[in-house]
Amino acid sequence: MTGEENLNPFAVAMAQFDRAALYLDLDDGLRELLKTPKRQLIVSIPVKMDDGSLRVFEGYRVQHNVARGPGKGGIRYHPDVTLDEVKALAMWMTWKCATVNLPYGGAKGGVRVNPKELSRGELERLTRRYATEIAPLIGPDRDIPAPDVYTDAQTMAWIMDTISMFKGHTELGVVTGKPVELGGSHGRQEATARGCQFVIREACRTLGLSLSGATVVVQGFGNAGSNVARFLHEDGARIIALSDSKGGIYNPHGIDPEAALAHKARTGALQGLPDTEAITNEELLELPCDILVPAALENQITRRNADRVRARLIAEAANGPTTPDADDILFERGIMVVPDILANAGGVSVSYFEWVQDQYGFFWSEDEVRHHLERIMTSAFHEVRATAERYRVDLRRGAYILAIGRVAEATRVRGIFP
Ligand code: NAD
Repeated sequence: MTGEENLNPFAVAMAQFDRAALYLDLDDGLRELLKTPKRQLIVSIPVKMDDGSLRVFEGYRVQHNVARGPGKGGIRYHPDVTLDEVKALAMWMTWKCATVNLPYGGAKGGVRVNPKELSRGELERLTRRYATEIAPLIGPDRDIPAPDVYTDAQTMAWIMDTISMFKGHTELGVVTGKPVELGGSHGRQEATARGCQFVIREACRTLGLSLSGATVVVQGFGNAGSNVARFLHEDGARIIALSDSKGGIYNPHGIDPEAALAHKARTGALQGLPDTEAITNEELLELPCDILVPAALENQITRRNADRVRARLIAEAANGPTTPDADDILFERGIMVVPDILANAGGVSVSYFEWVQDQYGFFWSEDEVRHHLERIMTSAFHEVRATAERYRVDLRRGAYILAIGRVAEATRVRGIFP
């Protein structure tokens, strides 16, 4: 661990790949192929703003690998989105889909925009134009987007409608995470958090930690974070700290996530919730707790703060919150990290269910969705754990060894065209 830590998300993704690929018998050519994104599209998105001006935004869609099936991955709207971040997120999707054994490859999209500054009409025009620009790449058999940071079911409905207008017929399966009224699946909205809850339960059993009464800290209070907090609260855990982009709140005696949701809906922020103390996002990560759930953005646990993390278990609801150097420090300290490509795979798993339901035009009950999700997440957790034990590595490397092995095998069997 010398020199500055490289926090470029694509460099982090490559390092994670290299650290696991070492354990697999891959020749240099195949290793190169598995690391390289298959397609990268950069688009410009002109939007007529409400005041009559014209603004141009930059957007991306990257397909990392489609050896096992169509590309799959969310669309992020954030002012800091870069092509390298989208490449990393697409690569993580490849390994995530393979870890939970879905018949998908990995893809991701993003638009460099602060959606909080746009009106609803501006957001709709931006979304429809972005969908049009990436239309040559996406489709139910090719690449299927879904929500990610600052996009939601409404965003997906606009994309589905835009693509359907070009096709001349309704194309439900082009995106997942749609509203239930429009070909969406029951349980999709909270699927990432539900999947995270299932793996946290398994991890707690493995550690001999009772979830009932366990103390929990959650960073990020959007779709993933707020629902994880709700579900773990229902399991009897004590949520002692929460945060959003404006900062965190802390109460060692416990915070009711529903009260936090209501406060945020009313005031636009978590801070100010009665009976809580304001803390920063940095302080939150270092609180003593049993379970820490990063559910915001990348690079939160790094070489700088990994030795100050005081959790027994970290479950990565976010993508890329922990750097490779931090992984080594946490592993050495005996802190279990359930990696993103496993911990947050519930979202893509229920997206897969949604896509299946759209193709069949036959929809499942919420109970069926939950049952299949629990089966997938629980068995993936134990497969990853068994792989990690076999190679005497941490769970991230275990998941990568499993996933890279599956994608490599698919590539080998298919052969290289022509
Ligand atoms: P979201 O837009 O619903 O919420 C994002 C949350 O993060 C908000 O509460 C926001 O205030 C907070 N946030 C933003 N910047 C922050 C910062 N610097 N510090 C602390 N909090 C900050 O997004 P989401 O869908 O919940 O996604 C969160 C993470 O989960 C991302 O890493 C995403 O890639 C990952 N993820 C989401 C899904 C999904 O289905 N939505 C699936 C898999 C992984």
